[in-house]
Amino acid sequence: MSSLKAIFFDLDNTLVDCRTADIRTYEILSILARKKQVNINTPQLIQCFQHLLIDVPFDPEGIIPVHPWRTGLWEKALHNQEIDDPILAEHLDTAFHSERLAYYTFIPGTQKMLDTLLPAYTGVIITNGDSEIQRPKLAACNAGKYFHHIVVGGEEPFEKPDPSIFYTACDLAKCCPDEAIMIGDSLKADIQGGLDSGLAATIWVNPENKEMPEQGPIPHKQVVSILELPSIINTLEKDN
Ligand SMILES: [Mg+2]
Repeated sequence: MSSLKAIFFDLDNTLVDCRTADIRTYEILSILARKKQVNINTPQLIQCFQHLLIDVPFDPEGIIPVHPWRTGLWEKALHNQEIDDPILAEHLDTAFHSERLAYYTFIPGTQKMLDTLLPAYTGVIITNGDSEIQRPKLAACNAGKYFHHIVVGGEEPFEKPDPSIFYTACDLAKCCPDEAIMIGDSLKADIQGGLDSGLAATIWVNPENKEMPEQGPIPHKQVVSILELPSIINTLEKDN
């Protein structure tokens, strides 16, 4: 590879442990739901909402804004238990986003690593998702303090894995694709996109040591945690 100039980072489940943030948030939401509906089955409510959130996180037609859309998902999850309570659905949507932000911090040790790494390289976050959801998360973890540039998928013509969003990051970092690397937990978005846009290397964050699917993109490197990045970069620079 050419000499490394920029590092592109995914946000959710790469820089921030969203799974832990979600567990804490759902505990709080369950208490809130039970206060209003004493007979509710909260594990079922949460599970139903999670399924809906994975299936249709945003209005596929792009008409309904994200908060009314997700309030609708809570309404559906409540209807699943024959509960008709639009006010509770609205409270759950508001609480889901505000409570989660309280737990939205970088994985311990990340700030220190970035302080040593990013004077030498240009750091860019490329995160998919709606601006209304991603911008408050970025503010909660103080991303602007550490990274030179931030690119939000929902504000771009196309999200990851489309190469165009990686080229936008290259333009901001004033580098060519083969002078940048991408690190992220999603094979479909981060690794596929990094490969398709011709980046120098792709690094897959795989904390649960999942098996690599037989089909699909193959990352250059695999790590358990973002904290392995400095030593991976040393290896890449040596291979150069
Ligand atoms: Mg991610």
